[in-house]
Amino acid sequence: MGFLRSRTGTADPPPRRTGIHPNASAKTADRPVRILVVSRAVKRAFKYRFYPTDVQAAQLSRTFGCVRLVYNMALQARTEAWTRRQERIDYNATSAMLTGWKKTAELAFLNEVSCVPLQQALRHLQAAYTNFWARRAKHPMFKSKRRSRRAAEYTASAFRWRDGTLTLAKMTEPLSIVWSRPLPDGVSPSTVTVSQDAAGRWFVSLLCDDVITQTPATGMVGIDAGLDSLLTLSTGEKITNPRHERADRQRLARAQRDLARKQKGSANRAKARLKVARIQGRIADRRRDHLHKLTTRLVRETQAIVIEDLAVANMVKNHRLARAISDAAWRQFRTMLEYKAAWYGRDLIVVDRWFPSTRLCSACGALAERMPLGVREWTCPCGAVHDRDVNAARNILAAGLAVTACGDDVRPQRGTSRTGQSSAKQEDPRATKGIPVL
Ligand SMILES: [Zn+2]
Repeated sequence: MGFLRSRTGTADPPPRRTGIHPNASAKTADRPVRILVVSRAVKRAFKYRFYPTDVQAAQLSRTFGCVRLVYNMALQARTEAWTRRQERIDYNATSAMLTGWKKTAELAFLNEVSCVPLQQALRHLQAAYTNFWARRAKHPMFKSKRRSRRAAEYTASAFRWRDGTLTLAKMTEPLSIVWSRPLPDGVSPSTVTVSQDAAGRWFVSLLCDDVITQTPATGMVGIDAGLDSLLTLSTGEKITNPRHERADRQRLARAQRDLARKQKGSANRAKARLKVARIQGRIADRRRDHLHKLTTRLVRETQAIVIEDLAVANMVKNHRLARAISDAAWRQFRTMLEYKAAWYGRDLIVVDRWFPSTRLCSACGALAERMPLGVREWTCPCGAVHDRDVNAARNILAAGLAVTACGDDVRPQRGTSRTGQSSAKQEDPRATKGIPVL
């Protein structure tokens, strides 16, 4: 769609009185109070650590290996069929192949693990091909023993969920799960994914049907991916990197230097590699946690969020930016915003990536000259003094407002009308306040 890349909330706007905040009439008893609360069924994953017994760990490791093997063999078959005979092999054909493989003497060990994760691997491959044909992704790649994610997916027929215990197929004992947060009441998993990260930690992710209560929110906020801070909001708030990240990064650099010095294939090298993986895991955990809290807060309290479509790949090449937006934090942030905005019925507006948000004066609209990365603050000829990042966030907000103002005529989606505010009202800077500090 060009300028406006994605907006969520495609349902028809429900009837409402406009111009009045849903809570504003709560005290007038003679008028009917209409507070719009919508419930929405969503698929939601809950991830926990667990500690397998030795038997379970061996069984799962074997399953991961078989999943990888089946995926790779099916990919090989599909690639060959296409390059040699211009023939497309679909999921059903690879599924029939799997049945054949299990009957051969060399691959009889595939019968030792649950067949469901193997079938799921073929489905994942099918999805990868669908994305490839739709030009959304590159051609699927072979899974590597070292670098690929160790994971196995179980559908309902391959696990038993009873009284809050989870037992996987081909296992006698339930998994010993650390319930770091409770599952919502009455919720049971439809799909279970078991994985192990590079640091050797085991995780189980339970995909459940959950209900989100959508409560009304107002206002609009623009967000800029900052330099010194992780993100900057158009309200002037700056969101910094997670605490301890700097110290963790120093530790990581030291661990990586240690690893580089160790002899290849030695036990000490394996130990050093594990140490690197542990620190990387901790940095990623903290970052994800930070972004979850931030995105939840943003979608709960703001009706519309405007972000810039950044070419992160290009930005990471720039060394000064690399640290601020490393670990694909921006992409992760955007993914979280996208699905949470859909959950809560909010609008996520993505503005054009070549929009000169930094150099444009948010007060008068004049375009400043080239601006080196070191410039943190600048003064426009109109007299406005700008913090680089806050100014950029304000411009992103203004671009988002322009999009919704245009959308008012055609009203393709629920957009601004959802809050009962006109877009002119939203231009009031007060509308973007009210986001408490994290
Ligand atoms: Zn100006």
